[in-house]
Amino acid sequence: MSAVTQFHADAERTTADVPRRDFIRRALHGYEVKRDESKSAFANWQHARDAAAAIKYEAVNHLDRYLLEFEEKFTARGGKVFWASSGAHARRYILDLARERGVKSIIKSKAMTSEEIHLNFVLERHGYEVVESDLGEFIQQLKHEAPYHFVFPCMHLKRDEISALFEKELGSAPTDSPEELTTIARRFLRRFYISADMGISGANFIVAETGMISITENEGNARLATAMPKIHVALIGIEKVVPRLADLALLLPMLATAGTGQNITCYNSMYGGPRQEGEIDGPEEFHVVLLDNHRTRLLADAQQRDALHCIRCGACLNVCPIFKNIGGHAYGTTYQGPIGSVITPHFRGLQDWKHLSGASSLCGACTEACPVKIDIHHHLLHNRRNAVAEKKVWWERAIWFGFVQLMSRPWAYRLASRLAPVGQWFHPFLQNSGLDPLAAWTKTREFPQAATPTFGDYWQQRKAVRK
Ligand code: SF4
Repeated sequence: MSAVTQFHADAERTTADVPRRDFIRRALHGYEVKRDESKSAFANWQHARDAAAAIKYEAVNHLDRYLLEFEEKFTARGGKVFWASSGAHARRYILDLARERGVKSIIKSKAMTSEEIHLNFVLERHGYEVVESDLGEFIQQLKHEAPYHFVFPCMHLKRDEISALFEKELGSAPTDSPEELTTIARRFLRRFYISADMGISGANFIVAETGMISITENEGNARLATAMPKIHVALIGIEKVVPRLADLALLLPMLATAGTGQNITCYNSMYGGPRQEGEIDGPEEFHVVLLDNHRTRLLADAQQRDALHCIRCGACLNVCPIFKNIGGHAYGTTYQGPIGSVITPHFRGLQDWKHLSGASSLCGACTEACPVKIDIHHHLLHNRRNAVAEKKVWWERAIWFGFVQLMSRPWAYRLASRLAPVGQWFHPFLQNSGLDPLAAWTKTREFPQAATPTFGDYWQQRKAVRK
């Protein structure tokens, strides 16, 4: 099934599930209240957005310089940097590393880059035991489902569903208590932290100045998953670099505020290399895989380059009316919601994924919410324009040709206005006979009533009265 057919089928199914939609809406509303409270910790949220956008602009427009600076400082402390041009390239490096070091089990902390390149699937196919340690990701792994939202992976699940899943997969007793559910997962995961040979993480930021990576989280699992195994591999998109350590003083609280409505997330860790002489803990080997995977294609597009400013806070998803209705899985992508609809066509092919840019009301709520001021809804328009410029669709061209003819000839427009009520009268017969050419559109919508009198009639009457 093509991506667009799958999208329509999934979106239709999820929009019909009204109780689930209500559940998601309530959850997202709660988040919006928390986010707005948390914004008050900033002297001026709009100025903070300007400053954050300026940091990301500088970083993305000097990506070459800052990434090399990071590499130089990180390798000086014994870390290894691998430049992966594609998902396959990154997977091959990690697989080779695991094989050469005799790895058997791998513990992971949340890394959307690993979802992007289907790393778990490939590692498991090669016989490695892979366990997700982030609670939401762990639940989704047990369910054999992709994350629903790239910040809140299992936000669509209710407590009783998680309890039933744990009962089935882990043999635990049913419970309605979030604390007990967390304890069940924690108990199960603990032994993997101790036994895993390799820890795989992503990162929220790469700091060029200090040659470090920054991971921000709420569960403490990333610290355990990266510090206890002998090998730490961090798989990070190249756009995550920032120039200076001081930049995090703004970006970390902004990410927490926009992402989860917190002033700051519970754990903020900096990792600068493998265990140094005299240190008692930390990995013996530390590899950073810098993932391109079509990011440089987006970088080359001067008009849309700022989509790489994204800090993956998820705020644009949380306010998006489309996301609220179709949910995360319908997108069929690693990065859901408005930003996913902008970048996925660049990462996975414009023609196959252009439908995502059409799944927007262009209300601009995403742009308004974005802490780094990405002009998201205009990027969706750019994608639509680029898709048409790249490959013309004959029936769209025919429709627009007809529209132009109609609108540029007053007599034709008047004639169409007169015929519209006839078409309206005739339409139910077409619907009942299954011959309605607008069936896909009218399936979920009322066909608009032709106005009587028309605006033209009204205008003529008005002119007559004034004479
Ligand atoms: S586009 Fe902006 S709002 Fe959306 S996830 Fe990225 S940083 Fe957050």
